[in-house]
Amino acid sequence: MCGTCNCDHHHGETGPAALPLETTGPRTIRLEQAILGRNDALAAQNRAAFDAQGLLALNLLSSPGSGKTTLLCETIRALAGRLPTAVIEGDQETSFDADRIRETGAPAVQINTGKGCHLDAAMIADAVGQLAPVRGSVLFIENVGNLVCPAAFDLGEAARVVVLSVTEGDDKPLKYPDMFAHADLMILNKIDLLPYLRFDVARCLEMARRVNPALPCLQLSATTGEGFDAWLDWIAHQYTAPRCGAGH
Ligand code: MG
Ligand code: ZN
Repeated sequence: MCGTCNCDHHHGETGPAALPLETTGPRTIRLEQAILGRNDALAAQNRAAFDAQGLLALNLLSSPGSGKTTLLCETIRALAGRLPTAVIEGDQETSFDADRIRETGAPAVQINTGKGCHLDAAMIADAVGQLAPVRGSVLFIENVGNLVCPAAFDLGEAARVVVLSVTEGDDKPLKYPDMFAHADLMILNKIDLLPYLRFDVARCLEMARRVNPALPCLQLSATTGEGFDAWLDWIAHQYTAPRCGAGH
């Protein structure tokens, strides 16, 4: 159960489409709108603060186990000496991921959401205060592994990156359309494992584009480095592009 977004009824096998009527009444919807409205206001403040400090904030979203932390560690190593980086890590418990990031030399702050299953804009404002990233950093935000409610929470990021690995189902984009509809980039990770799996890349991309026709997709392996240069180029392009604070 998520203590912040009241999203406990979004979890489980049946999904939002099969919610019992009593959990989707007007009171619940009003509560969600109030929470999201407050979050959006804080996210706008974050976005303005990031722009003022020259920070490029990227919100990384995925299921647990897609390889986000490995992707980030390799990205930080590749950017070392070129761009300063800093990381906010979100998990329900432990500081395992922030510890792994710090081993690369980049500063990292771990947020533990406890019962919560997403990051929100207020958590990010607090974490950035602790992190104090150097001006002009790429600020990576690794969201809690969850393809559902993190999609609803704007953190003030410049762009959203959804990471899907080939060890997951190729039909994820249609099962979790909100996540893919609001993404600015999709990364298909762990492509080195494709020979061992029944994962239909073309089918997956077709489903992603049905939800978000303009969604670019990069196929890469964070462990072998295949396809990694295109990801670094995408970051560099975002870094130099004017940030319009378009929101989602
Ligand atoms: Mg992680
Ligand atoms: Zn949640």
